[in-house]
Order: sequence, then structure tokens, then C-alpha cells
Amino acid sequence: MNQVAAGVTQLQIQRFVNVYFVESSNPGEWVLVDTGLPGSEKDIIAAADALFYPGTHPTAILLTHGHMDHSGSARALAEHWNVPVLAHPLELPFLQAKAVYPPADPTVDRGGSLAFVARFFPPQSFQLSNVVQPLALDSDETPYLPGWRWLHVPGHAPGQIALFRAEDRTLLGADAFATANHESVPSLLLQVPKISVAGAPFNYNWQQVRDSVQTLAELVPHAVGCGHGPVIQGPEAAVGLRELANNFPMPTHGRYVAEPAVIDAEGVQYLPPAPKDTLPAKAALIGAGVALAAVAGVALLGRGKSEGTKSTGRKTAAKEPAYNSKVYDLAARRARKSGQASCAPSAGALDEYPYKEVRF
Ligand SMILES: [Zn+2]
Ligand SMILES: [Zn+2]
Repeated sequence: MNQVAAGVTQLQIQRFVNVYFVESSNPGEWVLVDTGLPGSEKDIIAAADALFYPGTHPTAILLTHGHMDHSGSARALAEHWNVPVLAHPLELPFLQAKAVYPPADPTVDRGGSLAFVARFFPPQSFQLSNVVQPLALDSDETPYLPGWRWLHVPGHAPGQIALFRAEDRTLLGADAFATANHESVPSLLLQVPKISVAGAPFNYNWQQVRDSVQTLAELVPHAVGCGHGPVIQGPEAAVGLRELANNFPMPTHGRYVAEPAVIDAEGVQYLPPAPKDTLPAKAALIGAGVALAAVAGVALLGRGKSEGTKSTGRKTAAKEPAYNSKVYDLAARRARKSGQASCAPSAGALDEYPYKEVRF
């Protein structure tokens, strides 16, 4: 565990994502900010017991946004501790399985290795209906944490919030930015400190991402903890954030660069068309090469044998991807029926589907 500031402790889970234990100014009370990937509950409970006392529980769980790496263990923890989960109202459709987040954009400029792996992330939606509550929008005071205000920092997720304690200028920045190079999975795993853009393939509105970084840079934080990356303290925190705001690396191309996805309180209302992702074509070419080599091998080995061994490999190389819009439709209907989170097949399926018809 790492200390961000007085009463604020960061727990890194699998070197990939952070959760925060934030002590209230009310003695003995604390709040958990974010919950890691599904299955992180044991680590989080053990860390809380070690930090406070065995059997401790927070007054509430606050989600900075609903992405799986932040909300994944929310249900298990809420049920274990019997405490409420709070999130911005714009995140609720995604946390209540009423909508799925915009598909990740693996084609985004400078998406790096995260963009590569984003191809394999399904669209996300979770069923937390009976545990999640909306954050009240009439005040920017953070519930259960006197002295902390929350700021709406959309662009990466529609209802993403950051938390700021003015007294010592401590900022929990969620995924509005990252404190490690989020475009490189190795940098992230090595926890090399660097204030940078967070989660590029998942940013559905780049102008908002830029504005959110600007908003947070104006806070001139003295200590920073984000969803991904190490704690950064001292002048480097404000300098790094100012640098990112002033020289924001706006991508030159990508699905959500020229126009954003449109999201409202009901979910996603519009998705820009997906640019052609050349990787599957390259993979198909490699597949075709392997198939051809195999065919050639069979042909060589089979020389002199019967004609029947020859033409096997051709069809597999040109085969279409197995997913299609009907698969998603089925998953959505199944989810609607069972009230469970959608196990949507892949981002590709959603890309090909007229979006307004898939909302459920
Ligand atoms: Zn995120
Ligand atoms: Zn994240």
C-alpha cells in the first residue's frame, strides 16, 4: 500500500489498477474509492483489515466510474460490508445493465498496446441495480467525506468523477488521466511515473477528455493518485498535469476523434461509424499464409498418393469472423430476460449493429 496524503492510502491490485482507502475527518470513518476488477474483494478486505482493524468496514463505496476495472468487485464488497455504492447518475445505465459503454476503439492513434488488447474486451455493462445509488448533483461535496469535493470529468466515461481535498491539494483523478504511460502495458506494469492520457481506446469524447485534464490541472494538486499508475507527490504532480493540459496529445485519427459518441442519462444515443480495423485483415493474411504452407506441405507429402488429400486449407483462410449482430441481439435479449449483465460477444458485433436498436 502507498500513502497519497494524510488519511489517503492507495492499494495497487495486480500492478494494474488502484483503489483508495480515504479516511473521513469523522474519527473511525472511511470510504472505499473504486473496487478493482471482479475477484479483487479478498485483497481489498484484507488490506482494509490491515490498515484499520480486523472486521472494519467503510461507510460507503464510491465509484469514480463504472468500467470493469473500477466497479468489478463493487457488488461483492457491498454485500460483504452491507454498505451503499455511489456513482454519478450518468454511470447508472451502465451499472444497472440498461446500456453498454461505447465499444473500445482499437484504431485510435497512439493507443499502443492497450489499444491492441482492447480488441478483445467485450462491451461492458454490470448489474448492480440493487446496490448502486446516484450521487446527488445538487452539491459538489463528496458524501461521507467532509472537506472533499467531487468534480465531473467526462470523456473517458460519461459520469466519471475526480475527488479533490483543497486543504492539502490532494487529487484522486480516476481515469481522467493516468500517472503511468497508459498506452504501454509494460510501462503500466512497471509503474514508471508519468502523467499521461488514460485509457485512450475507451475515451469516447476526446474534447471532453482534454477539458477534464484542463479542469484538473487548474486545481494545482500537490499529491495525485489515479486509477492507473503510481502515486505522484510534490511539484511534479502539478507540473506534469499542467504539461499534459498545455500539450494535450489529441489523437490524429480514431473512431471518436472527429466526432464523439453521444451519451445521455438513458445510455448511448449515437456512435460514430467504426473505422476499418486493419489488424483482423493482417491476422487473416497470416492465417492464409499458414494455411497455404500447410496445404503445400500436405501436397508435398502426399505427392504420388491419391488426389483427395489436396484442396483442404483454402476455406479457413477466407472465413468471416464468427460474430455478427444477431449474436449481440441474442446476448442482449438473454440479459434482459435474466436481469443479468450482458455477456456481449465482442466489440466487433456492436460495431456492425445500428446502436439504438441494441439498447435494452
Ligand atoms: Zn476507465
Ligand atoms: Zn481504469
